[in-house]
Amino acid sequence: MTERLHRQDPYLLEFDAAVLARPEHEGRPALVLDRTAFYAESGGQPWDTGTLGGARVLAVLEDGPDVLHVLERPVAEDRVHGSVDAERRRDHMQQHHGQHLLSKAFVEVAQAATVAFHLGGEDTTVDLDRFVGEEQARAAERLANDVVWQARPVRVSTLTAAEARASGVEPPEGVLADIRVVEAEGFDRQPCGGTHPRTTAEVGVVVITSLERYKGGTRVHFVCGSRALAAFARRERVLADLVATLSAPLDELPAVARKVKDDLAASERRAKGLLERALEGDARRLLAEARGDGAAPSPASPAVVVAAFDGWPAEDLRVLATRVVALAPAVALLGSRSDKAHLVFAQSEGLPNDVPALLKAAVEHLGGRGGGRGNLAQGGGDRVERLDEALARARAALGLSAG
Ligand SMILES: [Zn+2]
Repeated sequence: MTERLHRQDPYLLEFDAAVLARPEHEGRPALVLDRTAFYAESGGQPWDTGTLGGARVLAVLEDGPDVLHVLERPVAEDRVHGSVDAERRRDHMQQHHGQHLLSKAFVEVAQAATVAFHLGGEDTTVDLDRFVGEEQARAAERLANDVVWQARPVRVSTLTAAEARASGVEPPEGVLADIRVVEAEGFDRQPCGGTHPRTTAEVGVVVITSLERYKGGTRVHFVCGSRALAAFARRERVLADLVATLSAPLDELPAVARKVKDDLAASERRAKGLLERALEGDARRLLAEARGDGAAPSPASPAVVVAAFDGWPAEDLRVLATRVVALAPAVALLGSRSDKAHLVFAQSEGLPNDVPALLKAAVEHLGGRGGGRGNLAQGGGDRVERLDEALARARAALGLSAG
């Protein structure tokens, strides 16, 4: 059996202990000691880290009456010195005690009970049994901070189930004795095995960062103490970056960001309109060039437009091909060279060519792939130098006069 020193004194970080057993845990060496100041993961609070006999403590787990300390390497000594990481312990005390105060504040403000608590490496949450809105959350936050700043004493007592009930604390199910009750004087009492500070003031501050609907209730994300400071610093950095990027004072950031977004959308609409007009012009010019003799194209004698461009995106080729075949009975065999070769083939409704087959043969010549259906097909390949040849072959395969 391991004596849990942290239950009497959560500020004790250095201790000496005798080794009782050396089991293995998932392939790692572990130690069971006669006493420990390391908190083992339980009740939503993660384990402490630190060293035992100079070896890093990777995990601390409850094992019935024992506490299992999982180490990064074996320790041979029968007596070891333990050292608990102070910063992590203090962080856990701030978050966990802050949780007690915030949970009680939600009961007071919104009759919302806490059904789960999670203390993670970055994120800390409580799950409430009902939905609470922004206003109630801010009221609970205010109340919790009032209690923090009143620096109320925090006391720990060990009670029987009957004593706990008499003092208004519902004992954990099936537990009759040795119920550890943590009290923030005059505000909150609850059964808990965690490490808590001497006074509520050590929590520093409680800040709710977000609310989400969760399992018919609310998940409340919050930070306390040093995590609140770190979260503030992170937001400050992001905001300073935005202030510099948008050349706007802090208070005007939302309005300026909205304007930038609106301006961008308007620019995109305008660019799209200009591109469509440009492609319409290109389509008419290409059709005119394809019919050099001036004769109007017809289904029996369609225009054949063959053109290669430098650096056009495949999407623009597709729009251009679609315009060409919409304006007159025509076949469009279009290509573009960039780091790859792109091809888009199209023909007007009612013309007899197998466009997907033409495209397939052409992209194979380019060492690539592509496909399509009916009168439109597209694809590409890496052999950019073969683009003109691929277009010429497709044209020859049409079996149509050049018009
Ligand atoms: Zn607790």
